[in-house]
Amino acid sequence: MACAQCSSIPLGLSGQFSARATIEAAEILSQDLVASGRWTPMNTPSGFTAAFSCSECGAHFHLVMPDPPAAGGLFRVSVTQQRIGELRARRQEL
Ligand SMILES: [Zn+2]
Repeated sequence: MACAQCSSIPLGLSGQFSARATIEAAEILSQDLVASGRWTPMNTPSGFTAAFSCSECGAHFHLVMPDPPAAGGLFRVSVTQQRIGELRARRQEL
């Protein structure tokens, strides 16, 4: 379960953004959360601009820049995707 902070990410930032102002708002929000110690930057999987994990609830987020026609967004990573990512990272270590 995501903490109150992670659950309150504005839906407008969660996918489908292509407007410059929205991209900047998503970047500022994630930078603020890192600066306040709530989010920790993670190794960024290829194809993503930045990745973060929440120190309170452990949720992972990916910041994706728009790549027309694909929209960008600040996406919460599902638990399943998170687990797949962990297993991939472990396999690369072997
Ligand atoms: Zn959280």
